[in-house]
Amino acid sequence: MKPSIYGLRKEVLIDWLLEHGEKKFRANQIWEWLYQKRVTGFQQMSNLSKATIALLEEHFCINPLKQMIVQEASDGTVKYLFELPDKNMIETVLMRQEYGSSVCVTTQVGCNIGCTFCASGLLKKQRDLTAGEIVAQIMLVQHYFDQRVEEERVSHVVVMGIGEPFDNYANVMDFINVINDAKGLAIGARHITVSTSGLVPKIKQFAENGLQVNLAISLHAPNNEVRSSIMRINRSFPIEKLMEAVDYYLDNTNRRITFEYIMLSGINDRPEHAKQLAELLKNKKKLTYVNLIPYNPVSEHDQYSRSPKEDVLRFYDVLKKNGINCVIRKEHGTDIDAACGQLRSKQMKKSS
Ligand code: SAH
Ligand code: SF4
Repeated sequence: MKPSIYGLRKEVLIDWLLEHGEKKFRANQIWEWLYQKRVTGFQQMSNLSKATIALLEEHFCINPLKQMIVQEASDGTVKYLFELPDKNMIETVLMRQEYGSSVCVTTQVGCNIGCTFCASGLLKKQRDLTAGEIVAQIMLVQHYFDQRVEEERVSHVVVMGIGEPFDNYANVMDFINVINDAKGLAIGARHITVSTSGLVPKIKQFAENGLQVNLAISLHAPNNEVRSSIMRINRSFPIEKLMEAVDYYLDNTNRRITFEYIMLSGINDRPEHAKQLAELLKNKKKLTYVNLIPYNPVSEHDQYSRSPKEDVLRFYDVLKKNGINCVIRKEHGTDIDAACGQLRSKQMKKSS
């Protein structure tokens, strides 16, 4: 299967064209067709010669994804199940927010981190997605908008779908480069958020890359005992090491970090957990904030249930009283398979 041309950074496309006897300026034309006019075939690139079109067709495809299922929720959330050329399935979610349209992308087929509450980790990692396959998810949502009468644009991107983005670092960075490029989709770096389960060396590397992209860390527990019991990765990178990387990131970038915290009833949602969390973050109150996330129940993980509202509010109050910036995340698409990995795992069960 040919790779998707969406995966090539502009400068990489320029080098490729020069190597193949083409002129540099063709890259601008091709990008304009891909990201401004948003064509679906090389044949539509009418200012390219037949020979150039043939060359592109010989080496690349544009869209590598086949749309299998689209679920629309009453709040405007849309969930897509896509099939990859090797028949693996991935999910992409569009969320309509007050501030714009946000797309959540998948970065790997399955995930090896194996958090015990997560539907994505039910499938071990089969492979990394290519940068082109990640960009294509955004493009297909944008194409979906383009077919409508009302103009809508993908304005925000969250790298929070299936997979651990920092376990596919180079491809995720290429993806960010393409969607952020002013001549690409021009999605502002501050409108892009990458979420990691806490791969410490990669957090440090990310701190050094100079991008203004937002970082979110899946913390989910205030101490090693609880965190190790729900997130295996904590055994390799315990909270002390994670906080060291966080400090390094904050010192290097002076940008805020979001801590994601799923509220699991009776596991991590007690007032003492909130106090421990406040203590953990007390030296970085200005540059951090906590996102309390309602748990999306996963049938394979029935040991976990969602914290009752009053427990969430009590937890929130303790954090606030201790001066920690904190929000309770709004839910999206509750009437469809909302948790990432759920639609995929249901579909796989059906087909087997
Ligand atoms: N692998 C990365 C990014 C993908 S997961 C990470 O773990 O950060 C994106 C977020 O969804 C993470 O914070 C993850 O912990 C959370 N999540 C996973 N399963 C969930 C569920 N069933 N309900 C709510 N959030 C969940
Ligand atoms: Fe992987 Fe993130 Fe799910 Fe953990 S929460 S299994 S890291 S996708």
